Amino acid sequence: PRRKCLLGNWKMNASLDGNAALLAAVGQSLAGLDQRVQWGVAVPAPYLAQVRGLLDGTPGWLGAQDCSAHEAGAYTGETSAAMLREFGCRFTLVGHSERRSLHGETSATVAIKARQALALGLTPVVCVGETLAEREAGQTFDVVKKQLSVVIHEVGHCVGELIVAYEPVWAIGTGLAATAQQAQEVHAALRAQLAVATPRAAQMLLLYGGSMKPSNAAELLSQPDIDGGLIGGASLVAPDFAALCQAAA
Ligand code: 13P
Repeated sequence: PRRKCLLGNWKMNASLDGNAALLAAVGQSLAGLDQRVQWGVAVPAPYLAQVRGLLDGTPGWLGAQDCSAHEAGAYTGETSAAMLREFGCRFTLVGHSERRSLHGETSATVAIKARQALALGLTPVVCVGETLAEREAGQTFDVVKKQLSVVIHEVGHCVGELIVAYEPVWAIGTGLAATAQQAQEVHAALRAQLAVATPRAAQMLLLYGGSMKPSNAAELLSQPDIDGGLIGGASLVAPDFAALCQAAA
Protein backbone atom coordinates (compact mmCIF):
# COMPACT_ATOMS: atom_id res chain seq x y z
CA PRO A 1 0.00 0.00 0.00
CA ARG A 2 1.11 3.54 -0.77
CA ARG A 3 1.77 6.11 1.93
CA LYS A 4 -0.54 9.07 2.17
CA CYS A 5 0.90 12.51 1.56
CA LEU A 6 -0.60 15.90 2.44
CA LEU A 7 1.17 18.96 1.14
CA GLY A 8 0.19 22.50 2.01
CA ASN A 9 0.59 25.16 -0.68
CA TRP A 10 0.74 28.47 1.13
CA LYS A 11 0.75 30.40 -2.16
CA MET A 12 1.66 34.06 -1.54
CA ASN A 13 0.57 34.00 2.10
CA ALA A 14 3.29 34.09 4.73
CA SER A 15 5.07 36.23 7.31
CA LEU A 16 7.84 35.46 9.75
CA ASP A 17 5.56 35.58 12.77
CA GLY A 18 2.65 33.86 11.05
CA ASN A 19 4.81 30.99 9.79
CA ALA A 20 6.23 30.37 13.24
CA ALA A 21 2.79 30.33 14.86
CA LEU A 22 1.26 28.14 12.15
CA LEU A 23 4.00 25.52 12.19
CA ALA A 24 4.23 25.44 15.98
CA ALA A 25 0.53 24.61 16.10
CA VAL A 26 0.73 22.12 13.23
CA GLY A 27 3.77 20.39 14.70
CA GLN A 28 2.08 20.06 18.06
CA SER A 29 -1.14 18.65 16.59
CA LEU A 30 0.74 16.18 14.42
CA ALA A 31 3.24 14.94 16.99
CA GLY A 32 1.60 11.53 17.25
CA LEU A 33 0.59 11.24 13.60
CA ASP A 34 0.71 7.82 11.94
CA GLN A 35 4.17 7.62 10.38
CA ARG A 36 2.69 6.36 7.14
CA VAL A 37 1.28 9.83 6.58
CA GLN A 38 3.81 12.25 5.13
CA TRP A 39 3.15 15.97 5.35
CA GLY A 40 4.91 19.01 4.03
CA VAL A 41 4.56 22.66 3.09
CA ALA A 42 5.37 24.57 -0.10
CA VAL A 43 6.35 28.06 0.99
CA PRO A 44 7.27 31.33 -0.73
CA ALA A 45 10.99 31.33 -1.56
CA PRO A 46 12.05 34.08 0.88
CA TYR A 47 10.86 31.95 3.80
CA LEU A 48 12.68 28.73 2.89
CA ALA A 49 15.47 29.26 5.39
CA GLN A 50 13.11 30.18 8.20
CA VAL A 51 10.72 27.31 7.54
CA ARG A 52 13.58 24.85 7.23
CA GLY A 53 14.46 25.77 10.80
CA LEU A 54 10.85 25.58 11.96
CA LEU A 55 10.49 22.08 10.48
CA ASP A 56 13.70 20.87 12.09
CA GLY A 57 12.91 17.93 14.34
CA THR A 58 9.56 17.28 12.64
CA PRO A 59 8.98 14.82 9.77
CA GLY A 60 7.49 17.66 7.67
CA TRP A 61 8.89 18.14 4.18
CA LEU A 62 10.04 21.57 3.03
CA GLY A 63 9.01 22.48 -0.50
CA ALA A 64 8.92 25.33 -2.97
CA GLN A 65 6.04 26.50 -5.14
CA ASP A 66 7.98 26.71 -8.40
CA CYS A 67 11.49 26.39 -9.77
CA SER A 68 13.21 27.84 -12.78
CA ALA A 69 13.46 25.95 -16.04
CA HIS A 70 17.04 27.23 -16.23
CA GLU A 71 20.07 26.05 -14.34
CA ALA A 72 21.63 29.45 -13.59
CA GLY A 73 22.35 32.77 -15.22
CA ALA A 74 20.61 35.94 -16.34
CA TYR A 75 17.06 35.12 -15.29
CA THR A 76 15.99 37.97 -13.05
CA GLY A 77 13.53 36.96 -10.38
CA GLU A 78 13.91 33.22 -10.86
CA THR A 79 14.94 30.61 -8.29
CA SER A 80 16.89 27.58 -9.48
CA ALA A 81 16.42 24.00 -8.41
CA ALA A 82 19.99 24.06 -7.07
CA MET A 83 19.09 26.99 -4.80
CA LEU A 84 16.01 25.17 -3.52
CA ARG A 85 18.12 22.12 -2.87
CA GLU A 86 20.69 24.15 -1.00
CA PHE A 87 17.97 25.46 1.31
CA GLY A 88 16.79 21.95 2.14
CA CYS A 89 13.78 21.55 -0.13
CA ARG A 90 12.58 18.00 -0.59
CA PHE A 91 10.05 18.86 -3.31
CA THR A 92 8.84 21.67 -5.53
CA LEU A 93 5.50 22.24 -7.18
CA VAL A 94 5.67 22.67 -10.95
CA GLY A 95 2.89 23.73 -13.27
CA HIS A 96 0.40 24.92 -10.68
CA SER A 97 -2.64 26.26 -12.53
CA GLU A 98 -1.93 29.75 -11.20
CA ARG A 99 1.51 29.60 -12.84
CA ARG A 100 -0.05 28.33 -16.07
CA SER A 101 -2.86 30.86 -16.24
CA LEU A 102 -1.31 33.95 -14.62
CA HIS A 103 2.29 33.50 -15.76
CA GLY A 104 1.84 31.89 -19.14
CA GLU A 105 3.55 28.61 -18.36
CA THR A 106 3.11 25.98 -21.02
CA SER A 107 3.28 22.25 -20.48
CA ALA A 108 6.64 22.30 -22.27
CA THR A 109 8.04 24.73 -19.69
CA VAL A 110 6.51 22.77 -16.84
CA ALA A 111 8.17 19.62 -18.17
CA ILE A 112 11.60 21.25 -18.25
CA LYS A 113 11.08 22.51 -14.70
CA ALA A 114 10.28 18.96 -13.62
CA ARG A 115 13.48 17.73 -15.26
CA GLN A 116 15.53 20.46 -13.57
CA ALA A 117 14.07 19.54 -10.19
CA LEU A 118 14.79 15.84 -10.68
CA ALA A 119 18.36 16.59 -11.71
CA LEU A 120 18.90 18.20 -8.31
CA GLY A 121 17.22 15.46 -6.31
CA LEU A 122 13.99 17.37 -5.69
CA THR A 123 10.65 15.63 -6.17
CA PRO A 124 8.58 17.57 -8.70
CA VAL A 125 4.91 17.73 -7.77
CA VAL A 126 3.45 18.09 -11.25
CA CYS A 127 0.08 19.84 -11.21
CA VAL A 128 -2.51 19.15 -13.89
CA GLY A 129 -6.16 20.04 -14.19
CA GLU A 130 -8.96 21.16 -16.46
CA THR A 131 -10.93 24.40 -16.45
CA LEU A 132 -14.69 24.47 -15.98
CA ALA A 133 -15.19 25.10 -19.70
CA GLU A 134 -13.03 22.10 -20.54
CA ARG A 135 -14.95 19.88 -18.13
CA GLU A 136 -18.28 21.05 -19.51
CA ALA A 137 -17.03 20.33 -23.02
CA GLY A 138 -16.18 16.77 -21.98
CA GLN A 139 -12.44 17.34 -22.42
CA THR A 140 -11.26 16.62 -18.87
CA PHE A 141 -9.40 13.40 -19.60
CA ASP A 142 -7.85 14.72 -22.81
CA VAL A 143 -6.62 17.88 -21.11
CA VAL A 144 -5.00 16.28 -18.07
CA LYS A 145 -3.47 13.45 -20.07
CA LYS A 146 -1.97 15.92 -22.52
CA GLN A 147 -0.52 18.00 -19.68
CA LEU A 148 1.01 14.91 -18.09
CA SER A 149 2.27 13.34 -21.31
CA VAL A 150 4.55 16.30 -22.05
CA VAL A 151 6.20 15.82 -18.65
CA ILE A 152 6.42 12.04 -19.05
CA HIS A 153 8.28 12.46 -22.33
CA GLU A 154 10.63 15.07 -20.95
CA VAL A 155 11.75 13.19 -17.84
CA GLY A 156 12.29 9.82 -19.50
CA HIS A 157 13.29 7.04 -17.12
CA CYS A 158 12.64 9.27 -14.06
CA VAL A 159 8.84 9.22 -14.43
CA GLY A 160 8.46 7.01 -11.36
CA GLU A 161 10.01 9.71 -9.18
CA LEU A 162 7.27 12.26 -9.85
CA ILE A 163 4.36 13.13 -7.62
CA VAL A 164 1.31 14.14 -9.65
CA ALA A 165 -1.37 16.47 -8.32
CA TYR A 166 -4.77 16.61 -9.99
CA GLU A 167 -6.20 20.05 -9.34
CA PRO A 168 -9.34 20.89 -11.30
CA VAL A 169 -9.09 24.64 -11.87
CA TRP A 170 -12.78 25.14 -11.07
CA ALA A 171 -12.25 23.62 -7.63
CA ILE A 172 -9.29 25.76 -6.58
CA GLY A 173 -10.23 28.34 -3.97
CA THR A 174 -13.91 28.09 -4.83
CA GLY A 175 -15.10 25.98 -1.90
CA LEU A 176 -16.46 23.55 -4.48
CA ALA A 177 -14.29 20.43 -4.46
CA ALA A 178 -14.56 17.69 -7.04
CA THR A 179 -16.66 14.81 -5.82
CA ALA A 180 -14.72 11.78 -4.67
CA GLN A 181 -15.96 9.95 -7.76
CA GLN A 182 -14.95 12.73 -10.16
CA ALA A 183 -11.48 12.88 -8.63
CA GLN A 184 -11.04 9.11 -8.46
CA GLU A 185 -11.84 8.59 -12.14
CA VAL A 186 -9.27 11.18 -13.18
CA HIS A 187 -6.67 9.72 -10.80
CA ALA A 188 -7.29 6.24 -12.19
CA ALA A 189 -6.80 7.54 -15.73
CA LEU A 190 -3.58 9.30 -14.76
CA ARG A 191 -2.23 6.18 -13.05
CA ALA A 192 -3.06 4.11 -16.12
CA GLN A 193 -1.20 6.63 -18.27
CA LEU A 194 1.80 6.49 -15.91
CA ALA A 195 1.74 2.69 -15.99
CA VAL A 196 2.52 2.76 -19.69
CA ALA A 197 5.66 4.77 -18.94
CA THR A 198 6.98 3.23 -15.72
CA PRO A 199 6.75 -0.01 -13.76
CA ARG A 200 6.57 2.18 -10.64
CA ALA A 201 3.10 3.61 -11.38
CA ALA A 202 1.46 1.54 -8.65
CA GLN A 203 3.81 3.06 -6.07
CA MET A 204 3.49 6.66 -7.25
CA LEU A 205 1.67 9.26 -5.19
CA LEU A 206 -1.25 11.02 -6.88
CA LEU A 207 -2.62 13.93 -4.88
CA TYR A 208 -5.95 15.72 -5.21
CA GLY A 209 -6.15 19.49 -4.84
CA GLY A 210 -9.02 21.97 -4.91
CA SER A 211 -11.07 23.04 -1.89
CA MET A 212 -9.99 20.05 0.16
CA LYS A 213 -11.12 20.61 3.75
CA PRO A 214 -11.86 18.59 6.87
CA SER A 215 -15.48 18.02 5.80
CA ASN A 216 -14.63 16.35 2.48
CA ALA A 217 -11.18 14.90 3.10
CA ALA A 218 -12.11 11.50 4.46
CA GLU A 219 -14.20 10.63 1.43
CA LEU A 220 -11.65 11.87 -1.08
CA LEU A 221 -8.79 10.13 0.72
CA SER A 222 -10.65 6.83 0.87
CA GLN A 223 -10.61 6.50 -2.93
CA PRO A 224 -8.24 3.83 -4.23
CA ASP A 225 -6.14 6.13 -6.43
CA ILE A 226 -6.15 9.26 -4.25
CA ASP A 227 -2.99 9.18 -2.16
CA GLY A 228 -3.27 12.54 -0.50
CA GLY A 229 -3.88 16.19 -1.05
CA LEU A 230 -2.39 19.45 -2.19
CA ILE A 231 -4.04 21.95 0.06
CA GLY A 232 -4.29 25.70 -0.35
CA GLY A 233 -6.58 27.66 1.95
CA ALA A 234 -6.94 24.97 4.61
CA SER A 235 -3.16 24.64 4.94
CA LEU A 236 -3.07 28.15 6.42
CA VAL A 237 -5.34 27.15 9.31
CA ALA A 238 -3.46 24.89 11.71
CA PRO A 239 -6.42 22.86 13.05
CA ASP A 240 -7.71 22.31 9.50
CA PHE A 241 -4.37 21.22 8.08
CA ALA A 242 -3.84 18.91 11.06
CA ALA A 243 -7.34 17.47 10.62
CA LEU A 244 -6.61 16.74 6.95
CA CYS A 245 -3.41 14.92 7.84
CA GLN A 246 -5.24 12.98 10.51
CA ALA A 247 -8.01 12.08 8.05
CA ALA A 248 -5.35 10.35 5.95
CA ALA A 249 -4.18 8.09 8.78
P1 13P B 1 -7.49 25.50 -2.25
O1 13P B 1 -7.27 24.34 -1.31
O2 13P B 1 -7.43 26.83 -1.57
O3 13P B 1 -8.69 25.29 -3.10
O4 13P B 1 -6.22 25.51 -3.24
C1 13P B 1 -5.85 24.34 -3.86
C2 13P B 1 -4.54 24.57 -4.52
O5 13P B 1 -4.43 25.29 -5.49
C3 13P B 1 -3.36 23.90 -3.94
O6 13P B 1 -2.26 23.99 -4.77
